[in-house]
Amino acid sequence: MNKKQKKNLVRIIIAAVLMIVLAFTELAGMPRFFAYLVPYLIVGYDILYKAGKGIKNRQAFDESLLMSIATIGAMALAIYEDGDYTEAIAVMLFYQIGEWFQAYAVGRSRRDISALMDIRPDYANIEQADGTLEKVEPDEVEIGSIIVVKPGEKIPLDGIVVSGASSLNTVALTGEALPREAQEGDEVISGCVNLNGLLKIKTTKDFDESTASKILEMVEDASSRKSKSENFIAKFARVYTPIVVYAALALAVLPPLVRILGMGLAPEWGTWIYRALTFLVISCPCALVVSTPLSFFAGIGGASRQGVLVKGSNYLETLSEVATIVFDKTGTLTKGVFQVTAIHSDKLNEEQLLHLAAHVERYSTHPIAESLRNAYGQEADGCTVEQVEEIAGQGIRAQVNGQTVYVGNAKLMAAIGADWYECDAVGTIIHVAIGQEYAGHIIIADVVKEHAAEAIKALRKSGIRQTVMLTGDNAVIADKVAADLQLDTVYSQLLPQDKVTKVEELLAQQGTGKLAFVGDGINDAPVLSRADVGIAMGAMGSDAAIEAADIVLMDDDPLKIATAMKIARKTLRIVKQNIWFSIGIKVLVLLLGALGLANMWAAIFADVGVMVLAVLNAVRALFVPQSDVVKAAGSQMHTDVTAA
Ligand code: ADP
Ligand code: MG
Repeated sequence: MNKKQKKNLVRIIIAAVLMIVLAFTELAGMPRFFAYLVPYLIVGYDILYKAGKGIKNRQAFDESLLMSIATIGAMALAIYEDGDYTEAIAVMLFYQIGEWFQAYAVGRSRRDISALMDIRPDYANIEQADGTLEKVEPDEVEIGSIIVVKPGEKIPLDGIVVSGASSLNTVALTGEALPREAQEGDEVISGCVNLNGLLKIKTTKDFDESTASKILEMVEDASSRKSKSENFIAKFARVYTPIVVYAALALAVLPPLVRILGMGLAPEWGTWIYRALTFLVISCPCALVVSTPLSFFAGIGGASRQGVLVKGSNYLETLSEVATIVFDKTGTLTKGVFQVTAIHSDKLNEEQLLHLAAHVERYSTHPIAESLRNAYGQEADGCTVEQVEEIAGQGIRAQVNGQTVYVGNAKLMAAIGADWYECDAVGTIIHVAIGQEYAGHIIIADVVKEHAAEAIKALRKSGIRQTVMLTGDNAVIADKVAADLQLDTVYSQLLPQDKVTKVEELLAQQGTGKLAFVGDGINDAPVLSRADVGIAMGAMGSDAAIEAADIVLMDDDPLKIATAMKIARKTLRIVKQNIWFSIGIKVLVLLLGALGLANMWAAIFADVGVMVLAVLNAVRALFVPQSDVVKAAGSQMHTDVTAA
């Protein structure tokens, strides 16, 4: 509870006590009015002030105005009848209790989220010439500096471990409780907590470009991207509130006029004004106005604590409507860590061919490049690599010791006119040509990610109608992966631009549901932005992914897609429940109020009650246990086994 919340709570309690005490006094007439005015003003002065300011700024029609008219009206009626002032006070009192509760819930979930997102590094340790450590602001550290991270400290900047080994806690980033090991040569990202060993890290990025800053920036921006539901509610409130005020006016004036002029009866002004005021209280749309953004906020927060970063409520909403999921293969469904399984060459020996390929790939970030470099293992042998050019979806060209070498797939070989030949080994085949002369090929094999099959099952179970895989790799390997994972459709040998075309085709065929694309950001950034919702895997690696995607999964686990879907659907379900529930109760009490069957007490209880329930319901979006998703997939697998 912050200071303001404490102050408001005290106000509420004082006003309530005063109101009760006054009920036992024997005051009458104007002294009675002034006595009751005290608790009324104590609890309601800020609402009255806000309403006054609204009128002055010509943005009058909000909840403060509804509450002010209703309570001032009730006070006036009470003076006139020397009657019950407690109603007016109670309306303000309960309205304030509702407001207080809402502020508390929002504060709580905001704090929960920021605690989970506790990845902002406070300082970096730089080693001085004499071996002592100096603490500096992380944004003062230049790229290539050596920083020291002690056990218990957060890694402030992305970099590579130059000495030491340790376990890293990545839970704030990925939701994954199991620590990750890091040793010399490993890349580490900012926001992880160093658990046991001392690490010396050579930074590879500025603070602003480091993972932790990027993520924080993203989460902070998320609330500015509104969902359709939120926009709808905001628009709804803008139209609805004035209508309610005019309707109340009509209810106060028309029936008495009809009674005198039409029926020759007593006008009963008091009764109708009272009904009109009750009507005003009932129609206050606070539950909706408050709970809808809060639900999305909680949903985004709940997702981030599972390592799923959603860039805005609109994306959460779209995700909940997804019917088709399109996957990229390498790095998304497969690990992207290729092992060399064979090397075939008529001209060079195996070592020489691998050596050439690894060198050409020296500067590439493609998973294939990394795998070839690892397979060769002796990068630093003094050879020169120059004029590197990546040919997206085909391969790469570079000058190694002055010779132009091409490394890539059959398409690339055909494009340069090399005299290449097929190989019937199952795997990704990496051809090598020196100049235009074919030098042989390296067969590498990737493995499907552990949870990939499980994730596809969980997605299908949650109602995904179609699963599609797109890949630039050859058909043999693509079909095998698709069969292993039981995907519905697969398209292979696609260039990055073909992937966009395919997704556009699929979008055109799409009936009601939305289309999501899941990729790793390597060669598929355009597709990520073209899909209704782009999901990037493994923000731990690629910047392109964080930029292009709408939703970023902090680790490489495909099950997180199912988690994200589940959170999105749950959030939207809550939003809809709240909308129907609060509108339903409002309409009911409105009818009763218009008929004179609900008094102001009923109205205020309905209003605050609905709001409290709606807010509590909204906060549920914060909680979606990962285990639920795994269980759903697990039980499905179990039934499959018994059925088979
Ligand atoms: P995917 O669609 O499976 O993610 P890409 O579109 O990134 O794959 O690449 C498609 C194909 O292009 C790869 O299977 C490979 O044959 C070739 N290729 C792309 N980049 C490289 C590279 N750096 N080195 C060698 N081959 C590459
Ligand atoms: Mg790819």
